[in-house]
Amino acid sequence: TRMMSADLQIEDTDIESSIRPITLEEYIGQSAIKENLSIFIQAAKLRNEALDHVLLYGPPGLGKTTLAGVIAHEMGVKIKVTAGPAIEKPGDIAAILNNLQPGDLLFIDEIHRMPRQVEEVLYSAMEDYHIDIVVGKGPTAKSIRLSLPPFTLVGATTRAGMLSSPLRDRFGIVQRLEYYSLEELGQIIQRTASLLEVECTSEGAMEIAKCSRGTPRLANRLLKRVRDIVWIKYEGHINQETALEALKLLNIDTYGLDEIDRRILNTIAYQFKGGPVGLETLAATIGEERETLEDVYEPYLMQQGLLQRTPRGRMLTDAAKILIKMPPELNN
Ligand code: ADP
Repeated sequence: TRMMSADLQIEDTDIESSIRPITLEEYIGQSAIKENLSIFIQAAKLRNEALDHVLLYGPPGLGKTTLAGVIAHEMGVKIKVTAGPAIEKPGDIAAILNNLQPGDLLFIDEIHRMPRQVEEVLYSAMEDYHIDIVVGKGPTAKSIRLSLPPFTLVGATTRAGMLSSPLRDRFGIVQRLEYYSLEELGQIIQRTASLLEVECTSEGAMEIAKCSRGTPRLANRLLKRVRDIVWIKYEGHINQETALEALKLLNIDTYGLDEIDRRILNTIAYQFKGGPVGLETLAATIGEERETLEDVYEPYLMQQGLLQRTPRGRMLTDAAKILIKMPPELNN
């Protein structure tokens, strides 16, 4: 968590913040979500009301924080950003809510990681804009009702199923972000390149896109590394040839698999003969948290057709066996 919020801060400074899309139009991909949101935003503005609460879920780096900012911009309201683990006590969330101006958007990242008592304060806040706070202690303690200005809560989580149902039910708009297509990633890379004032051909952008794991955050990161290499080594711009050279130097494969992806595939192959293996066992063997495997790694490996979920556990597909060159004699 510390890491994640630190990450966010870093990305929010200078250059990074200038590459975040601000308007719905600049936000590339996720067309179904954009279409829905644009209707709900227009309707809320016409009624002169705060937008209904929005829950965004999907793997990290797909643009949930960015989209929250875009929504605030389109609504013409201010955004306040916080994260579930940073809100420790009911008093913390009460203070945040009490400081909101009418219409403001409150973004809570990792909303599934709020303590239960904090979550309970949110129920009435979300439902009819009030909170009950207890003042004093013991027999003289009493509950005071505080009314809040209308506001929009935008929550982000890696998986909607991790939220308690009372909390999930209070979001009027629930949207799942999808991995981006190669074309969309290519557009994102070219957009970022032009903001960074780096020349990058569409073929060059495509090569970087192929290594980006369907994820804009990775696409932008890779672009910067490729830019550095191409600049220092070739003193030129990014095209197909220089991009491929740079990606080779960075030791990234065209599935965009990272070290942990590869470790997952290799573990299933070499320790479990291609599977099936239960998620718990796999997580313990790899030394990752079960949730991380399930929310961050598995969705991408499955989308790429490398991993299969079966009732008996996780299995490698034939494509995965070919990719990691699993010796056929290992097969179960
Ligand atoms: P998340 O909150 O889902 O982890 P972020 O919103 O922080 O992801 O996005 C990561 C980075 O990717 C941002 O810095 C942003 O510049 C870029 N990005 C995300 N979504 C898009 C998009 N749809 N179009 C262009 N750039 C995007």
